[in-house]
Amino acid sequence: MSISISGVTRMYGAQKALNNVSFEIAAGEVVGFLGPNGAGKSTMMKIITGYLPQTSGVVKVCGLDVTDDSLEYRNKIGYLPEHNPLYLDMYVKEYLKHVAGIYKLGKHATKRINEIIDITGLSPESTKKIGALSKGYRQRVGLAQALLPDPEVLILDEPTTGLDPNQIVEVRDLIKQVGEKKTIMLSTHIMQEVQAICERVIIINKGNLVANEKVSNLDALVSGKGHTISIEFASPVNSEELSAIEGVNSIECVSDNFFKINANKDIRKELFAWTVAQNKQLLTLNQEHQSMEDIFRGLTQ
Ligand code: ADP
Ligand code: MG
Repeated sequence: MSISISGVTRMYGAQKALNNVSFEIAAGEVVGFLGPNGAGKSTMMKIITGYLPQTSGVVKVCGLDVTDDSLEYRNKIGYLPEHNPLYLDMYVKEYLKHVAGIYKLGKHATKRINEIIDITGLSPESTKKIGALSKGYRQRVGLAQALLPDPEVLILDEPTTGLDPNQIVEVRDLIKQVGEKKTIMLSTHIMQEVQAICERVIIINKGNLVANEKVSNLDALVSGKGHTISIEFASPVNSEELSAIEGVNSIECVSDNFFKINANKDIRKELFAWTVAQNKQLLTLNQEHQSMEDIFRGLTQ
């Protein structure tokens, strides 16, 4: 396992910011760490990166224990903190040299810095001061410093928050590109971001783990609420006739020829057969998927 979290609790005074949280992330996975503001995402990420001690529980990265506080542990992890604090007065290269020093990259530093500037698309801005860069480019500098020690694991805390729509797409693409070779844990409160980048999602709310699922399984997680099928006919239909069809739980009449049917399974075939048997004409037959936002709300409320 790249990341192994077992029963982690973190107190801030009397407040429990993380409550007995456990999960694992395998090598090469790209996992979204999702939750509303205040859920405990940044706290967990600071604990994994060794910036904050857990109150109890065990945290391991690539088999190494965080409490050993070793250079070996630190070099396994690249970390982009929330609000990405950068030295605005430093030049891009100067800053990356400074970071290379912290990771003790030694004589390989210059070569590695040039490589990383290339990978993160910073070349045109690499001679500027960080303070002169756009927020999107500052975020690239943040990713560059995280990638510098060529870590196996990347911890990215809300990497696209505060960027404009174009910058968001660019930074996401960059994350996807570097994610092909690394284990990535990325926090966000945006559900679409998880869909765009991640294979799996871990959701926390008020310090508790509420879901740990493949993104493709999220629909099923809340499908206890049944399937919603919208159906529209060319002429009015009596909703009571529809409710006699097997599997129908309830019907919402949007108009006299348009209905939203809640059913205990996908009954589109049955609805189509019924329509033909009744000699009626169908305009729309559609199974509605839960929006990612619906799922998120369902799990965190
Ligand atoms: P998220 O990143 O999901 O928004 P955080 O991990 O930042 O959540 O915060 C989780 C909870 O812990 C919040 O209620 C927050 O107010 C609290 N918290 C975070 N940092 C501290 C701190 N240094 N001292 C006291 N409380 C904190
Ligand atoms: Mg946070």
